[in-house]
Amino acid sequence: MIRVGIGYDSHRLVEGRSLVLGGLRIPFERGLDGHSDADAVAHALTDALLGAAGAGDIGRLFPDTAPEWKDADSIVLLRQACELIRGRGFVPWQADITIIAERPRLNGYFAAMAARLSDATGIVVANLGLKAKTNEGLGWIGRGEGIAVMAVATVESP
Ligand code: MG
Repeated sequence: MIRVGIGYDSHRLVEGRSLVLGGLRIPFERGLDGHSDADAVAHALTDALLGAAGAGDIGRLFPDTAPEWKDADSIVLLRQACELIRGRGFVPWQADITIIAERPRLNGYFAAMAARLSDATGIVVANLGLKAKTNEGLGWIGRGEGIAVMAVATVESP
C-alpha cells in the first residue's frame, strides 16, 4: 500500500544566520531564521513523510519551545522522524520538493542535497525530486523576505 503526504514550510531571511537547505550550508548574505537551523527543505519533507504515515507533524514531534531543538540540525530531526515512520510499519519511498526562493540560485546544490536527504530518509536518490523556482518578484518571497518549500512524499507499507 502506498500513502501520500504533503508538507509546506517557510522561514524569514535575516542577517547573521547561515542559509541551510536540504542539509547543506549554502553561501549567501542572509540565512533563514528559526528555532532550529531553519532548514525549510528538511522541515517540509519531514512533514510530508509524517503526514503520509499518519504520524503527526514536525511541530508536535519537535516543539520549537523545547531547548533541545534550539539550533538543531534538521537533518537529525528528519532522520528521527523516519525512524518513527518505520516503527509504524511504513517505509519512506519517494519525495518531490519545490523550493520557492528569489535568490540564491539553488540548482547547483541539488545533487549534494539529494545525497543528504537520501542518507537521512533511506529514499534512493533516483526517487528524490528537487526543483527551485523564483516567485517572479511577487509578494514576500519576491521581495526576498523569506523562502518557502513545498513537498510531497510517499511511504509504502511492505
Ligand atoms: Mg520550519
